[in-house]
Amino acid sequence: MTQGMTKRSVVVVGAGVFGAWSAVRLARDGWRVTLVDAYGPANGRASSSDHSRVIRAGYGADAIYTTWAIEALADWRWLAKKSGDSLVEECGALFLGEPGSPHLAATAATLTACGVTHERLDAAAVVSRYPQLGVIGLGDAIYEARGGVIRARRAVAAAVTTARAYGVTCRQARVLPPDESSSAPVVRLADGERLEAEQFVFACGPWLPALFPEAVGGRIRPTRQEVLYFGVPAGDGRFAIDRLPVWIDFAAGLYGIPDLDTHGFKVGIDHHGPPIDPDTADRVVGSDAIATARAFLARRFPALMAAPLLDARVCQYENTTSGDFIIDRHPRWSDVWIVGGGSGHGFKHGPAVGKHVTDLLAGRAAVEPRFALAGKSTAAARAVY
Ligand SMILES: Cc1cc2nc3c(=O)[nH]c(=O)nc-3n(C[C@H](O)[C@H](O)[C@H](O)COP(=O)(O)OP(=O)(O)OC[C@H]3O[C@@H](n4cnc5c(N)ncnc54)[C@H](O)[C@@H]3O)c2cc1C
Repeated sequence: MTQGMTKRSVVVVGAGVFGAWSAVRLARDGWRVTLVDAYGPANGRASSSDHSRVIRAGYGADAIYTTWAIEALADWRWLAKKSGDSLVEECGALFLGEPGSPHLAATAATLTACGVTHERLDAAAVVSRYPQLGVIGLGDAIYEARGGVIRARRAVAAAVTTARAYGVTCRQARVLPPDESSSAPVVRLADGERLEAEQFVFACGPWLPALFPEAVGGRIRPTRQEVLYFGVPAGDGRFAIDRLPVWIDFAAGLYGIPDLDTHGFKVGIDHHGPPIDPDTADRVVGSDAIATARAFLARRFPALMAAPLLDARVCQYENTTSGDFIIDRHPRWSDVWIVGGGSGHGFKHGPAVGKHVTDLLAGRAAVEPRFALAGKSTAAARAVY
């Protein structure tokens, strides 16, 4: 930016992982940024709010997510260094599939093509390396050495602190849904104040359908998702992050994170739950989720079959048709960008999303067809895992 030139201005609405990183990258690129969130960064209702999130580059044949995850990991490490906080644990990621799983074969091929260190393991190799796992029903596996876990809420908080250090103004206020029938966007806060900027980025996760019923509407379907934290046996270090990787059991539709920060052994249910209203939903986990997780633990991690439930959270996925993100202009307004549709896998990509948003606003990038609104419908046809 030339000295003396007025900075271009942008308002980013939403301080979840997508909005926080958009603010960081835009400010670093020389924009004057205001970051507005109704409830505060990674608040208890937001999709970015849990203690931990899985990071991995393995994504089947979806090389775009593999390359974004690699780029993003470098940025997460940069943020961890800058903030002096251990945000990332590269404890490895283990992908479990049925014998001969086409998804695992595609994952291995993409990881190889992208130069990501990984190993293919059969069931015997998995249990010999991780005797904590039960062998019954175990098929093939891939171990990705630099996968792992990120301390999610802390990471968003660190991104917002960094954004402030780059001059971003942070505000806690609710933005009203703009009138989508008007020829130009008018963006107001709930108290009537009008926000002025050259560009607007709406990174409002599961709230996007309510903010833009016409442009987004049913193209993002927020679903209720449950995660459970089980207590590990006393004096038993086998379930800590230095002894076990994060794992995804694709056939079972469950994933988990070892006992990070002694918070408990996390089990997440990846099947899409019922619709949820992110503002009003009570966040009480159902007995079905506990029973599903326990039945799974009995088979896959038998030492935890009777483990007590220490903590549980209800969050929401903001699902698009296929699971591909939405990062596109509002169809009516060229200065309004819609950024969301993380679809249960977006967290790790936050830094790459922020970079792409910055490149789009600077005119350095074109809208990626997979992230276009045009390709999204109201149907559920999940294709990204
Ligand atoms: C249970 C669960 C497990 C997951 N596991 C993983 C994982 O292991 N790995 C992974 O990579 N991803 C994972 N994800 C997905 C990932 O967490 C989400 O895709 C990501 O956090 C979405 O971030 P976001 O910034 O789009 O939305 P959010 O975090 O929801 O942020 C949106 C923000 O917008 C604000 N906002 C909304 N409306 C307004 C308004 N009108 N005015 C002002 N502010 C507003 C909200 O307050 C909120 O803070 C998981 C998600 C869930 C729910």
